[in-house]
Amino acid sequence: MVKFGLTKSGIAKLVSEASLLPPPLRHSLPPFSVSPSPPPSLPPPPPCPLRPPSPSPHPPLALPAVSTPSAAAPPARGRLAPPRGGAYRVSGQKKWITGGHVADFLTLAVRTGAGSKGISLLLADTSAPGIEIRKMETQFDTCHGTTFITLDNVLIPEENLIGKEGAGFNYLLLNFNHERLVISVSTCRFARLCYTEALRYSMRRKTFGKPLSEHQMIRWKLAEMLRQVEALHDYNERVAFQYKAGVPDSRLGSQCALLKVQASKTFEYCAREASQVFGGASVVREGPGRVVERLYREVRAQAIPGGSEEILLDLAARQAIASAVKAPAAAGKSRL
Ligand SMILES: Cc1cc2nc3c(=O)[nH]c(=O)nc-3n(C[C@H](O)[C@H](O)[C@H](O)COP(=O)(O)OP(=O)(O)OC[C@H]3O[C@@H](n4cnc5c(N)ncnc54)[C@H](O)[C@@H]3O)c2cc1C
Repeated sequence: MVKFGLTKSGIAKLVSEASLLPPPLRHSLPPFSVSPSPPPSLPPPPPCPLRPPSPSPHPPLALPAVSTPSAAAPPARGRLAPPRGGAYRVSGQKKWITGGHVADFLTLAVRTGAGSKGISLLLADTSAPGIEIRKMETQFDTCHGTTFITLDNVLIPEENLIGKEGAGFNYLLLNFNHERLVISVSTCRFARLCYTEALRYSMRRKTFGKPLSEHQMIRWKLAEMLRQVEALHDYNERVAFQYKAGVPDSRLGSQCALLKVQASKTFEYCAREASQVFGGASVVREGPGRVVERLYREVRAQAIPGGSEEILLDLAARQAIASAVKAPAAAGKSRL
């Protein structure tokens, strides 16, 4: 069968080649950091001023700890403890904190007052007395290191306040943009991996006397996956380009929110379709479908952290409505 002037094997080859080309050939924009010579080796990190030197081979690792278990659970509260002088006394809980068990420090979001101006960021040493960190079993194995953290009267020196007291919410908002872009880039890679695994398997596995890739319905699945992955890849490049071009964070909130939603939905679609291509091989943790089986369990871990889909869509819509209220004439041209 010949469609659009190409044989079936020709189509498979084109699809396969498109996915394997290095990014600079697939995109008209130049790559962001091309250096003709190998990059200079980085100098060793400076000693951490907050901790005595340790034999640990890695530089100190500080991870964000923002989320709390539920509205009913006590949020981490910190207040200056004058009797002890110069320290915040913090009690409360943090949940789902990625990598908590390997962190040297936590960037703790704590309540120091009411409302959005009552959140402050404190750098907490994980070896401080009163901090307990326990790893949580998750749907997606263990590589994220998802942890539950309990703080019981932890004293954090006043000089570990990050920025200004009460300004933590703004710092978090700015950090979220970057986090969402990074999540989107890695999620795009996961989605592409679903596609390439499915493509390769479809060319090997035979049903009804021919490879899966020769069934039109399977080729349709491959093309749909690739279409969405390529669109996401370009969207990532566009937002990264805006960063590179100096667009301020304050103007990238909606872009990063929508980008992350696009990424998790693309990945969810590809994980589902790749699993269908693998059939039973995609539900066992061994054999040719084990990568797709593992990726399928990763989907929610991209769709929920860093802002869940519902919250991010709502954020983008609220920003669009706010700018339409400010400039009604430009509303029709709004790109969110
Ligand atoms: C794998 C993983 C890693 C994580 N890592 C970290 C970390 O390192 N640091 C950290 O601080 N946090 C981390 N988190 C926490 C993560 O940011 C939160 O899980 C996420 O923000 C959602 O909050 P929640 O789970 O409390 O859901 P809830 O706030 O209880 O919401 C439950 C559901 O309802 C929806 N929802 C809530 N409000 C609305 C609304 N107004 N309108 C419509 N729908 C709504 C949400 O989208 C969600 O789907 C991680 C979570 C996961 C799963």
